[in-house]
Amino acid sequence: RVKEKWAATRPKHPPTRLALQHFDATYGTELGSLWPSIRIALLSEKKYGALINVFSSDVSLAELQVQGCRDFINDGVVQTSFEGGAKNESSDVSMAKAEADGLQESPLQHSPNLQCFVFQRGDIRRFKPARPDQFGLFGYYLMDAASVLPCLALDVKDGDTVLDLCAAPGGKSLALLQTQLIRFLCANDSSVSRTKRLKQVLQSYIPKQFLTEDTLRITSFDGTMWGEIEKNAFDRVLVDVPCTTDRHSLMEDDNNIFNKSRTGERRSLPQLQLELLLAGIIAACPGGEIVYSTCTLSLNQNQSVVEQAIHLAQEQHNIHLQVVSLRPLVQMFKNTFHFAPELHLGEMVIPHLAANFGPIYLCKLRRLT
Ligand code: SAM
Repeated sequence: RVKEKWAATRPKHPPTRLALQHFDATYGTELGSLWPSIRIALLSEKKYGALINVFSSDVSLAELQVQGCRDFINDGVVQTSFEGGAKNESSDVSMAKAEADGLQESPLQHSPNLQCFVFQRGDIRRFKPARPDQFGLFGYYLMDAASVLPCLALDVKDGDTVLDLCAAPGGKSLALLQTQLIRFLCANDSSVSRTKRLKQVLQSYIPKQFLTEDTLRITSFDGTMWGEIEKNAFDRVLVDVPCTTDRHSLMEDDNNIFNKSRTGERRSLPQLQLELLLAGIIAACPGGEIVYSTCTLSLNQNQSVVEQAIHLAQEQHNIHLQVVSLRPLVQMFKNTFHFAPELHLGEMVIPHLAANFGPIYLCKLRRLT
């Protein structure tokens, strides 16, 4: 029974309930038989990954291993090369299929410095909070392990210049810096308060000598205007856009985009996402690669945005793009994450009770002109 005092102040339609109604209506149709199990996972506690800080002297790898954790990135790489040793048929098949679909497939390399520990499937223990070492740097950063995938898909090479267009609070910028391959990173976020948080995160993990003006620029511009700031400039661009953050929207009434007062903002998300992706495409150099990512299952905010951006880039800016297949990444990490079966554009980690990561959608584009 609800106490009267609370009943009077409690909103009739809490945003979390509105979010669930909205998702039932849209995802029930878009995801069909997959939706009931994704729904249960979304309403349950999510799992984290511990992104190891290579710059900290207190990286308690042994401690994590004793707890039964494993580095899903290196495990995936080793497993795939083992399968490859016995002639990687599945890769050949997916390569042939990708070619038939007109997609470009490229093998992913990765920096051995990038490590992210997770508990085994079905193990729902939590990580202890990370501790600062003698220099004040934390040993690991807790984040949705599937959020590392857009960074892996970006496939940075030694000496690359990288733009992270919507970077705060900084998990992905931090993962990119862990590779120690990047010559120059520009981390941008339009929110000044969130940019401050991003700075704090980077300062708590990366030694000062790696955060100089020559290697890192932190800005608070409206990312949609980036084309007017810099064109054809970056080897790699990450466009990790604001979205309906499905998991948060179902679990937290605070700062919830399904709050009635934010209906307009929510409805205009696909347009904002499209403008951000187009700006990211323009900021990349010809030959450069762009990864678009969200943490929603929504077709309107995922595949539709990418489709429109490819079309508009060509029509309005004469930029031709190629979709790069991320099937090799799915092959590598299929033992850690549940991926949606064959999307026509991009890949998506779908939440599952035994591996409750995501949702994360990602799609990779390469500029041909
Ligand atoms: N990449 C971040 C990370 O890994 O920690 C998370 C990014 S979050 C999904 C989306 C971010 O986009 C928010 O921090 C928000 O402030 C920012 N944002 C919203 N509108 C923007 C705009 N027009 N330009 C740049 N950033 C924007």
